[in-house]
Amino acid sequence: MPGDINTSVLIVGAGPVGLTLALDLAWRGIDVTVVELRHAGEPPSVKCNQISARSMEIFRRLGIAGKLRDAGLPPDYPNDVVSATSVTGIELARVSIPSRSERYRAKVGPDTWWPTPEPTHRINQKYFEPILFACASANPRIGILNRVVFDDFVQDERGVTAAIHDLNSGEKRSIAASYLIGCDGAKSSVRKKIGAKLIGTAEVQRVQSTYIRAPDLIGRLPGKPAWMYFSLNPRRCGTTIAIDGGETWQVHNTLNVGEDHFDSVDRDEAIRTILGVGPDFRYEIISKDDYIGRRLVAESFRDRRVFICGDAAHLWIPHAGYGMNAGIADAANLSWMIAGVLAGWAPPAILDAYEAERKPIASQVARFTESSARNASAQHRGVSSEIEWPGRSGDEARQRIGREAYNHAVQRQCAGGLNFGYFYEESPIIAYDGERPPPYTMSDFTPSTVPGCRVPHVWLDDGQSLYDALGQQYTLIRLDPAIGVDGIVSTAARRGLHLPVLDIATPDVHTLYARKLVLVRPDQHVAWRSDVEPVNPGDLIDLIRGACQRPTIRR
Ligand SMILES: Cc1cc2nc3c(=O)[nH]c(=O)nc-3n(C[C@H](O)[C@H](O)[C@H](O)COP(=O)(O)OP(=O)(O)OC[C@H]3O[C@@H](n4cnc5c(N)ncnc54)[C@H](O)[C@@H]3O)c2cc1C
Repeated sequence: MPGDINTSVLIVGAGPVGLTLALDLAWRGIDVTVVELRHAGEPPSVKCNQISARSMEIFRRLGIAGKLRDAGLPPDYPNDVVSATSVTGIELARVSIPSRSERYRAKVGPDTWWPTPEPTHRINQKYFEPILFACASANPRIGILNRVVFDDFVQDERGVTAAIHDLNSGEKRSIAASYLIGCDGAKSSVRKKIGAKLIGTAEVQRVQSTYIRAPDLIGRLPGKPAWMYFSLNPRRCGTTIAIDGGETWQVHNTLNVGEDHFDSVDRDEAIRTILGVGPDFRYEIISKDDYIGRRLVAESFRDRRVFICGDAAHLWIPHAGYGMNAGIADAANLSWMIAGVLAGWAPPAILDAYEAERKPIASQVARFTESSARNASAQHRGVSSEIEWPGRSGDEARQRIGREAYNHAVQRQCAGGLNFGYFYEESPIIAYDGERPPPYTMSDFTPSTVPGCRVPHVWLDDGQSLYDALGQQYTLIRLDPAIGVDGIVSTAARRGLHLPVLDIATPDVHTLYARKLVLVRPDQHVAWRSDVEPVNPGDLIDLIRGACQRPTIRR
């Protein structure tokens, strides 16, 4: 049914996930309409403080990583994570993390070895979301309707028609699309309309979160400034994050057991204790952004032509900085599959892979972050007054707690496993070969070409990033140019898939890759690998594009 507006994909919500999805679809040649109830370019509240390395890899592909990297904290502002008795108190441990001017050169720090062309970028959502918005609004394939609310939808086998209204004029209109994607955040109307319930723990913890202006704080820091401070003392533990590297800070006060309401704790007293300043210290509250940490995942991510991504589909405690980043991974996963269906090389059945791949990852991250948050609360409860004593027993307590705090900070803030370790285990469109992917934790991972894993990044002989050399659809990486691949390439072409072959001869890549042929998907995950061309390339190509039930791919 034609609408007042017709588009290929309608996205509800121009938060970081909706904007990434719009940019990725547009990059793949799909026209998109986004409806957003906020004003054009209106910044969000200060929530997320880091774009993960994996998200930066996605933004690199879209050509906007440089713009994002140029914004945020001043170039030389240290990105270190410090644990101390208070922000201005005794330092217990410091995790060295390079400032953005040093990011590509630095060798010191637990995440400087990561095999990626795009390390994590520490920047507040308030700064990067308007950049995403500007990039999306400048894109001719993307139409953004601001101050417009999505109200409802109907769908049939041909498409979806959404009802919207304009917040300024009250005018009601309809938008017809092939697909509707709810990136409309925690209170998602789209999730409610498809009847997907949130399953899990509705409340893990409450956090009094305050965005403050405190121009004098930087002058009172005892050492080199840091990006994040974990305050550990027996009175009030909390986290403080540098927002502009000058005068604005976000202070999180995680409420203790028994402090059941946001108002059960004196906010001013808590902030002063976390900062370690007296009543004379002047600061101003810019906003109060208290939140409840949850562990909830939607029971379903889809109803036929309607999908949900990001906070609409999963909510967890912002430990390890991975809420938004998991949503960006959802967007990057769904985008290429929808683009494949609209371009005609994939049948609609490929879309079954979205929930099959992303929902288990969401559940896993939710469990990791809940467990990390509970460990942090236990650590807070265990801080004794010794930590502030002078002399030897105080020193010993500080060393012991400092060691634990260092490990905890690395796990949370250099979460390599969450970035690179996850793999798609039960996908209908991956040709598994029986080998188990390497296990991973929140912080540890082992790069691997086991189907389902992110293809290990290498720098090519000419200095180019492997990821820059991959095609927009699938790419066949070949480590031995003597292996014939004409059958698979021509079979793909007959199914409408352009399959470029990328010969790489980088030293050590044979050990890392373990196979001579690796078929990489449009989202940089491995679809298949072998040492020889498959005997039945048609079955393989049909499997990875969602056109058949899982056959046995003979190698
Ligand atoms: C204190 C805090 C710290 C955090 N830190 C991190 C971090 O370091 N790293 C990280 O990855 N994540 C972090 N997060 C989580 C992160 O902020 C969210 O996961 C992220 O904002 C989700 O993005 P989204 O686009 O899915 O949803 P949102 O950002 O909520 O965007 C949804 C958009 O949809 C719009 N919308 C809603 N309903 C409608 C409607 N009916 N019609 C039209 N528009 C609609 C809204 O206006 C909004 O713009 C943090 C969260 C908090 C609270």
